[in-house]
Amino acid sequence: MSIDYAARLADRVKLTEEHLITRMLNIADGLDDVIKMGRGDPDLDTPAHIIKAGQEALANGATHYTHPQGIQPLREAIARNIRDYGGAAYDPDEIMVTPGGQHGMFVIALALLNPGDEIIVPCPGYNPYSQAAEMTDARVVKVPMGMETNFTLTADMIRPHITDRSKILVLINPNNPTGTVTPVEEVRKIAQLAQEHDLIVISDEIYSRLTFGNHKVLPVASIPGMRERTITLSGFSKAYAMTGWRIGYLAAPRELITPMSEINHAFAISTAAVSQHAALAAASGPQDCVEEMRRIYDERRRAICEGLDAVGMRYAEPQGGFYVYADVASLGLGITAGTFCERLLADGKVMMYPGTIYGDHTDDFVRMSMTQPADRIRVAMTRIGEVVAAIRAERAAPADA
Ligand code: PLP
Repeated sequence: MSIDYAARLADRVKLTEEHLITRMLNIADGLDDVIKMGRGDPDLDTPAHIIKAGQEALANGATHYTHPQGIQPLREAIARNIRDYGGAAYDPDEIMVTPGGQHGMFVIALALLNPGDEIIVPCPGYNPYSQAAEMTDARVVKVPMGMETNFTLTADMIRPHITDRSKILVLINPNNPTGTVTPVEEVRKIAQLAQEHDLIVISDEIYSRLTFGNHKVLPVASIPGMRERTITLSGFSKAYAMTGWRIGYLAAPRELITPMSEINHAFAISTAAVSQHAALAAASGPQDCVEEMRRIYDERRRAICEGLDAVGMRYAEPQGGFYVYADVASLGLGITAGTFCERLLADGKVMMYPGTIYGDHTDDFVRMSMTQPADRIRVAMTRIGEVVAAIRAERAAPADA
């Protein structure tokens, strides 16, 4: 007799009957030559010296559990790296290596959130922060952002959402899905607000090395008075193209890292030893590979913007990370971003995701990932123009008839 698992799933497990991403991936499976600008997974390879370090580590026996916080040389290299890029000073016991930054979000939520506590998140913003909080029965308070601030949070926008249950504020800088950077002065004001209201800040700086033009990320923990109330979440997936190695880290005062390390141990025991040795090569080796990737994304970013300008689609200024957030509503097609994505995939063979899957309160925007070479991006932009023209022609047809 089979068990009815659907009836036994816990209340907190939220399943949608027909998930948009699954549906799009199914459509894509049946098509040739789809240009995939959906996932946030770099097409670029992990740099060769990092792969070699992983291979050598395996050959030398890095096949066991490690210290739950990660191997000491890696924690030292991460602490050095944080400082070298303008961050706060941490001791190695204030660093916790995790199997991906995303895992860290759940460790933080379990360590800090009680039912009814409030966690303030940017909307749209990287969704697992909300998912992790919901699993603890905390209340997720979304601060809607829009084009007025180029999809970045401001202290003034956050202030009305603070209550006496507010515990954590999440800042994602650069933000995913919007590819935007919170200006340095605004980060200072947000930090001031956090101090006034005794909030813990989770500062997600995983894309901070990938910024464009004059845009720079101010590490929150480097601001006077913030180190003690900030958990910096970052990792190797984006800057070093290491998504599949599953390795990230948290940096925070040891009073927080020690209990979180207990939870991390219960979850994962430790991060894969081979990935830690590869990450050690990434953090302590030459850094020009990061600059090379940043330059490649910058070229792709320009290709996307030129294409969107040609189609007449407005977008948030892409300042960091590898995403462009573009406004389908600005095309005046009378369809949602979700419908546009499905149509674009089926007819134009270009895949991108609607902002709703990152919690956007409107269904107007799409996220385009810069995870294709520039020449493929140019082809994608031409295809987008063709699909937009076809939809316009359809809309015009009944009126003409
Ligand atoms: N933070 C942000 C803003 C992200 O976009 C992602 C992944 O897309 C992560 C964290 C998690 O990355 P990982 O778990 O690969 O370290």
